[in-house]
Amino acid sequence: MGVASIPRNYQLFYEAYIGSNPELAQDLAALGSRATQEELDDLSARHLGTGQVDVIEKAHDRILTELDSVLKLLRQEQASLESYSRLLGETAVRINAKSSFSSELIRNAVSLLNDATGDKIAQGEKTAGDMEQRSQEMDQVRRELDEYKRIANTDSLTRLSNRRAFDERLATIFDHAPSLPVTALVLADIDNFKKINDSYGHPVGDKILSTVASVIRSNVRKEVFVARTGGEEFAIIVQGNTPDEVMIICERVRRALETRAFRNSRSGINYGPVTISLGYSMASQAADPGDLYARADTALYHAKNSGRNRTIFYEDNMTKDYVSKSWLIYKK
Ligand code: GH3
Ligand code: MG
Ligand code: MG
Repeated sequence: MGVASIPRNYQLFYEAYIGSNPELAQDLAALGSRATQEELDDLSARHLGTGQVDVIEKAHDRILTELDSVLKLLRQEQASLESYSRLLGETAVRINAKSSFSSELIRNAVSLLNDATGDKIAQGEKTAGDMEQRSQEMDQVRRELDEYKRIANTDSLTRLSNRRAFDERLATIFDHAPSLPVTALVLADIDNFKKINDSYGHPVGDKILSTVASVIRSNVRKEVFVARTGGEEFAIIVQGNTPDEVMIICERVRRALETRAFRNSRSGINYGPVTISLGYSMASQAADPGDLYARADTALYHAKNSGRNRTIFYEDNMTKDYVSKSWLIYKK
C-alpha cells in the first residue's frame, strides 16, 4: 500500500523535505517506503505535535464539508439543468409529434396578433385620414355657410347690409340699456328719386343708388352699421355719439352727397344734384326697436315735409299720426 494522499501526510513529507526538522527527516527515512498510516501518524504526533495535526485534520474536514456542499449545489444545478434540458427535449418532441396542429395553432395565433395589430394601425391611419377629411369638409361647409350668410345679409346692388341684416341688428340695440342714450337710428331717403328714374331710366337710377350708398359708407366710421332697407332708403346705426354728434355725422353725409357730381363721362349729362333727407332718434327716446324705427321715420317725414335735403332730430312733441310705408313694411 502506498502513502495515503491526505493533508497530514503531505505536511509530514513536506517538513522532512524542506529540512525544517532534521530528526523528523531521519525517522521518516527509517520507516522506508512501506510505512503504515499508524507509523506516519505516530511520527506526525511526535514531531509536528497533535495540536497541529488536529488543526490540519479539522481544516481537512471543513474543506471536505465545504466541498461536499459545493458538490451538492453543483449536483442540484446539474439536476435542474438536466430537467430543464429534458423538458425542452420533451417539448420539442411533443411539438414535432403534433407539428401540423402546433404550427397551425402558432401560425393562427401569430397571424391573429399580426392582423389585430395591423388592423389597429390601419384603423388608426384611416381614422386620422377620416378626421382630416372631415375637418377639411367642415372647413369647406363653414366657408360656404359664411358665404351664404354674407350673401343673405348683403344687398346685391349696393353691397351694403340689407333689410334682413338691419332687422337683426335693430333687434339687438335694446339688449344693452346703458348704451341707449348714445345709440342713434338714422333713416335716410333719396329725394325725388322717382323723377330721376323717370327721366334717365331704371339702370341710371341703379347706378345713382350705388353711388349714394358708397358716399354714405365712406363718410361714416368703419364700425358704423349702414344698410339699404328699401328701394331708395337707407338706415344707419351710430353708436357712442350724443345727439349733437349724430347731427354732425348726418350733415357730413348729406353735404357730401349734395356736393357730389353725378355727371356721365361719355354723354356729359349731369344727373345731379342728388340729395337725401335724414331723420334720427336716440334709442333712449324709444321703448323698443319698432318704436325707435317709428320715431326716426317721423323725424324723416318732417325732413321731407320741411323742404328735403336736411337732417331732423326726433323730438318728443313730434306728431305720431303719420305712419310711413316703410314702417308698415317693418311691422310685417
Ligand atoms: P321723396 O323725396 O318723397 O322720397 O320722393 P321719391 O320720389 O324719392 O319717393 P317715392 O317713394 O315716390 O319714389 C321712390 C322711387 O324709387 C320709386 C321707384 O321707382 C324707385 N326705386 C325703388 N327701388 C329702386 C331700385 O332698386 N332701383 C331703381 N332704379 N329705382 C328704385
Ligand atoms: Mg325718396
Ligand atoms: Mg322712399
